[in-house]
Amino acid sequence: MGNIELENGNEESQNPYLPLLQAQQKYFRQQCSKPLQSRKAVLQKFASLLKEKESDLFEAIHSDFHKSAFETYAAELGFLQHEIAFALKHLDTWAKPKRVAHGLINFPGRSYVLSQPLGSALIIGAWNYPYQVTLLPAISALAAGNTVLIKPSELAPATAAAMKQLINTNFPAELIHVVEGGATETQQLVDLPWNSIFFTGSTRVGREIYQRAAKNLTPVTLELGGKSPAFVLKDANLKDAAKKIAWAKCLNAGQTCVAPDFVWVEAEVRSAFIEELCQAFEAYPTAPDQANDHYVKIISKRHTERMASLLDPKQVVFGGQIDVDQRFVAPTLLHPVAWEDPVMQEEIFGPLLPIMEFENLEAALNQALQQPSPLACYVFSTDSRRIRQILDTLPFGGGCVNDCLMHLANPRLPFGGVGHSGSGRYHGEAGFRTFSHEKSIVEKFGWFDAPVRYPPYLPWKWKVLRRLLP
Ligand code: NAD
Repeated sequence: MGNIELENGNEESQNPYLPLLQAQQKYFRQQCSKPLQSRKAVLQKFASLLKEKESDLFEAIHSDFHKSAFETYAAELGFLQHEIAFALKHLDTWAKPKRVAHGLINFPGRSYVLSQPLGSALIIGAWNYPYQVTLLPAISALAAGNTVLIKPSELAPATAAAMKQLINTNFPAELIHVVEGGATETQQLVDLPWNSIFFTGSTRVGREIYQRAAKNLTPVTLELGGKSPAFVLKDANLKDAAKKIAWAKCLNAGQTCVAPDFVWVEAEVRSAFIEELCQAFEAYPTAPDQANDHYVKIISKRHTERMASLLDPKQVVFGGQIDVDQRFVAPTLLHPVAWEDPVMQEEIFGPLLPIMEFENLEAALNQALQQPSPLACYVFSTDSRRIRQILDTLPFGGGCVNDCLMHLANPRLPFGGVGHSGSGRYHGEAGFRTFSHEKSIVEKFGWFDAPVRYPPYLPWKWKVLRRLLP
């Protein structure tokens, strides 16, 4: 049984994934995943394999939901290559012990923090960017010296199989391995005592994962979703805002966790902005026979039906076509829309874009504060005072001013949600820290030991204590 402590005894010892975890924990205990040179070699091998198997990976994702090679490279494989190169460049610095000020109390000696891998990490992915949301945290976990088990989403089966083939045939299962499965398999995995769980998916399932992981006190990173607003103020460049919002909403057919969920436009420019948005949306297919490799399918018929249930034909000002059999939803603008409408009750996660309007920014911000914190927020404006007002008032994961989505493209920016949109961070150094324990050390030099702390507590010691801790 190794060092695994099972809270639920027999039940967990029957868990089919226990041998895998045990093998990974043994590998970790033997220090095999830790040396910096081995971590770098693994990351380099990962980068080469992603390049070598690129066409298999493109083919798999195309068969799952018609994602083009361009979008796959821009938002997934190229993204991963960039992350690996960044990690390789900075790993020595991230992993180096960090000296901190030592203080008189501990004289003579030094204080420092050691970054240590947590152990065995379980990574559970969503289907929408299937390579990015599973392999990017895996890169951080490996860079930090952990072992990794990946459970991709069953809703993108070809990509899950492609990742399994790529990883399981090229790396030892003790270091990194892929397991396929749906809810039942994920629950069985989560029930085991991992040292870290990294979950990307819906808030509903994230809550369940968190509760299950609590049994083993496993730390959990939650990368969830939410209703991310795009504010368009009256002084914005409306054409530029429309083009960027349309792109961010139509990329991956709106199935993007940080897509602008809805637009919130200042009433004064509402009509002009809707006109600009309609023009910008014309660049995308409006019927299934126009859909091509530049516009992905909705992941399943069930998800397409959900889009249909959110769409009120009376609100459609552009688009509106849905073909469930072809899993097609046209980029669609909805106006006017109220908070009570079904489309404002849940994360849309598709190419429907409700347009809300506001007369008074303070009142709009007060309404936004009543909602669960979103993963992203976008502000289009040239008024730096009002931009800061929005950024400072609203809680949200991260975002952009005068753009959408592009905060993800900078590995120097930590990425993650807050409140209902998640907890914890990754990308670049933030990912390395998520999978590391910061071990604090005071190291004493033996040539002097101040007698103050030892009894008897004489009056002079009391005086020294009061001076050291005033
Ligand atoms: P989901 O929550 O349905 O599934 C995510 C994972 O959980 C899958 O691997 C699935 O097999 C597993 N799962 C599903 N039901 C389960 C259950 N009952 N118990 C245990 N495991 C279960 O999410 P999804 O539909 O794959 O993804 C869409 C959601 O993910 C959206 O809300 C989106 O915003 C969010 N998302 C967030 C990010 C981010 O970085 N924050 C990125 C991508 C997607």
